[in-house]
Amino acid sequence: MAKIVESLLLENLKSLKPYESARRLFSGGRVFLNANESPFANDFELDSSKFNRYPDCQPPAVIQSYAEYAGVQQNQVLNTRGADEGIELLIRAFCQPGRDRILICPPTYGMYAISAETCNVGVEKAPLNDDFSLDVDEVCRFKGKVNLVFICSPNNPTGTSVNATEIQRVVEHFADSALVVVDEAYIEFDPDTSWSQSINQYENLVVLRTLSKAFALAGLRCGFTLANQDIIQALFKVIAPYPVPEPVAQIAAQALSKKGVAKMREQVSFLEEQKQRFKDALTAFPGIELVGDDKANFILFRLAQKQELMDYLVEKGVLIRDQSKQLGLNNCLRITLGSEQENSLLLALIASFFEQQELIA
Ligand SMILES: *Cc1c(COP(=O)(O)O)cnc(C)c1O
Repeated sequence: MAKIVESLLLENLKSLKPYESARRLFSGGRVFLNANESPFANDFELDSSKFNRYPDCQPPAVIQSYAEYAGVQQNQVLNTRGADEGIELLIRAFCQPGRDRILICPPTYGMYAISAETCNVGVEKAPLNDDFSLDVDEVCRFKGKVNLVFICSPNNPTGTSVNATEIQRVVEHFADSALVVVDEAYIEFDPDTSWSQSINQYENLVVLRTLSKAFALAGLRCGFTLANQDIIQALFKVIAPYPVPEPVAQIAAQALSKKGVAKMREQVSFLEEQKQRFKDALTAFPGIELVGDDKANFILFRLAQKQELMDYLVEKGVLIRDQSKQLGLNNCLRITLGSEQENSLLLALIASFFEQQELIA
C-alpha cells in the first residue's frame, strides 16, 4: 500500500475486502446464473433532449408510478441507486460511526454487514433457526443495543419468506428504539407477503425494493426505500444531490408503466414454471438436497461434492454461486433461474457431471 494511502486510510477500512460481487469473482464465463439477475433483456426508448441538464433529484414519473405499484403515498418513496444505496443511506442517517450497531439475521444478504463495516458501524447477529425461520426471541434480545434491524424476506440466499406475525412482533418490540428494515428485493415472487402498506401503521418500519430482480433491470441501478415521510426526509439529508441519472429515470418510468408491470408479471410466471421444472430435475440427482424454500428466482441446494461441481461448471463456462461460507449453509450452492435454454444447459451439465463422477468412482 502506498505510504500516503497507508497513513490516511481509515483504520476500519484497512482490513476490509471489497465486496466480492458475483460478477467480480468470475468475469470469464458465458452463462451467468450466479447473481439472481433476470434472463430477460427488455427494450426501452431514450429521449436525449434533456441530457445536458442535471436530472430531477427524484424523478416525478418514477416516484408516482412506484408509489402506485407499491400502494403507498408518493412522499413515502425514495428512489435510490439500487436497494444497496438505500441500505447505506439508512446506516449513514441512523447509525453513529464507532458507536452504534445494526442487527442482521444470517444466513442473509451480504451488503448489510458490508455497508455497516465501511461506515465503522458494528454488526450484531441473530442467526435464523435451523429451518431458516426468524429466531424472534433472539432478535428481541438486542433491543436498545442496535439502531437498525435488517430482515430479508424473501431471504437471499435461503428463498424463505419470514412469517408475518414474526415480523410484526419484531416491529412492535423495537417500536421506540430501532428501525426495522424489511428487504423485499424478491417480493414479486411472493407478492402476498409484502409489508409496504404497513408503513402507515408502524413509524419504525422501512421496506426496501429494487428493479434489479423481477423487473429485469440490474444494469439500471434503481431501487426504492418505502417508509413514513419523516424517515424519507431524514434520508434526503444524506443522499447525493442527483442520485438518479436521467436515462435511468426514463427507463424506470417505462418499466413501471402498466405495460411494463404486466410484462414483469409474465416474466415472473415464466420463471416460476422454470423453477418447478428445475427443482423436479434437481431432486432426481443422487446426493442433491434442496435447501430452504423457493420464494424467489433462485434455488439453493446442498451437495457433498459441491466444489467438484462448481469447478466442472466453471470449466464449461457456466457460473452459479457458492454459498457454502454462509452460516449453516455448508456445501450449499445457489442457482439463479435463467432462460429455458440456460436452464436446460445447466441441467445437462449437472447430469454429465454425475455420470463422470460415477465413472471415476
Ligand atoms: C439483489 C439484492 C439487493 C440489491 O438490489 P440492488 O437494487 O441491485 O442494489 C438487495 N437486497 C437483496 C436481498 C438482494 O438480493
